[in-house]
Amino acid sequence: MFYNSTRNSNVKVSSAEAITQGISADGGLFVPESIPELSLDEIKAVGVMKYADRAAFVFSKYLTDFTDAEIHYCTDNAYSTKNFETEGIAELAHLFDRTYMLELWHGPTCAFKDMALQILPYFLTTSAKKINLDKKIVILVATSGDTGKAALEGFRDVEGTSILVFYPEDGVSPMQKRQMKTQEGENVGVCAIKGNFDDCQNGVKAIFTNEEVKAQLDANGLMFSSANSINWGRLVPQIVYYISSYAELVKDGEIALGEKINIVVPTGNFGNILAAYYAKHMGVPVNKLICASNVNNVLTDFINTGVYDRNRQFYSTVSPSMDILISSNLERLLYLMTDKNDAVIREWFGKLASEGKYEVSGDVKAKLQEEFCAGFCDDEQTKEAIHAVYEKYSYTCDTHTAVALKVYNDYKAATGDTTKTVIASTASPYKFSAAVLEALEGKVSDIDEYDKVDRIAELSKMPVPSALADLKNKPERFNDVIDKADQKNYVLKTLGI
Ligand SMILES: *Cc1c(COP(=O)(O)O)cnc(C)c1O
Repeated sequence: MFYNSTRNSNVKVSSAEAITQGISADGGLFVPESIPELSLDEIKAVGVMKYADRAAFVFSKYLTDFTDAEIHYCTDNAYSTKNFETEGIAELAHLFDRTYMLELWHGPTCAFKDMALQILPYFLTTSAKKINLDKKIVILVATSGDTGKAALEGFRDVEGTSILVFYPEDGVSPMQKRQMKTQEGENVGVCAIKGNFDDCQNGVKAIFTNEEVKAQLDANGLMFSSANSINWGRLVPQIVYYISSYAELVKDGEIALGEKINIVVPTGNFGNILAAYYAKHMGVPVNKLICASNVNNVLTDFINTGVYDRNRQFYSTVSPSMDILISSNLERLLYLMTDKNDAVIREWFGKLASEGKYEVSGDVKAKLQEEFCAGFCDDEQTKEAIHAVYEKYSYTCDTHTAVALKVYNDYKAATGDTTKTVIASTASPYKFSAAVLEALEGKVSDIDEYDKVDRIAELSKMPVPSALADLKNKPERFNDVIDKADQKNYVLKTLGI
């Protein structure tokens, strides 16, 4: 299996090269040249494997330059009860009538990003060895919360790597800040920036592309890499849990082999729902992929009209990990839907960069609407959804998952579709405790963050994830706050060069 760039179909690299490079030099994203197909019997057989082996089976179709031993080295290290609180890794909760919650947040940072960021460090170091990159990998991350912490946990004490995370001093939740400041590990660093998320991100990008810095790293046996969601090594682990959940439903007798399901995904960068699209095209029987957004509803409009327009007000919501106006992974979907037309992708994404807007052809719009449905909801509706599901089923979900739930309920009411449905549940409710507690109790509470967690535990009867419970007593290790202009020097100083 080789990988092409969405902006130049003549680019052809191995998976090890795609994973170490992260993004193609032409600015395009790496896409496998074909989608491997699984038979229904192969999908069924996945259901009797443990999660690490399910993942290894799927990876063997995409990472064909990896040996079986290399793949198992990655999966056995990433998907074990050392890192995840549940045996099943990605748990499927059979709670509602014909509706299943795919809980992707039993990892070390309580958000679904762990599913990919627990394994990415192993993919990266294995890939670097395979292509004889004899360098230590330095990961730089700009984060608005979830990605930074998940990357820190994934890379901590992984041999041959170090990681440095920048976050906006006033732009993350109290829990997220504590999670990062108390990070353990010998190869990790965390620093706050006086500025917003864009300042952090622009600084990181400028350092990545600074030739002088690159040369300094090179002279010291170091190289930069990215843990960003545009890396194929972050997307491929997400395909696994959709195949896995289908196989599990068959095994449990909830559906017949071959019966179609819907999949609902709360979406920001379009990575998680694109993985569901890949699972469908590998052979998982799917009726509709339902794309759920908050009031930053650029994707809802795009799927309904074929016009992508980021020129709009940006809103901060109670589902902050979906507060995004540029969904990078859409580029991969459109490349597939235009039958790999790199010229048209260059045109559309050029327009997105220059005008903030593009319109796809009628043909692509029709394909989009055949595969996807889209909807959005606001913060009030998000909280109402949390409240309603708690009242009816005694189940507590987080704000992002609640967006998916609300959009799904609207879809059902509008279409009458009774197809059995899997909803991707992307974070533990404890991670967004202020909004979740307000939704459960129907009023704003002024108790502190840890008391909110305890109160949610009383109401939900769900154990507090140990990673969050332990935070209270952990010492803070990282208290640096710097001006954005000092970011480059901070990186060099931290690396000791
Ligand atoms: C990142 C994130 C999302 C959005 O996922 P995308 O792959 O960017 O679409 C949804 N929910 C939570 C909790 C997240 O952290």
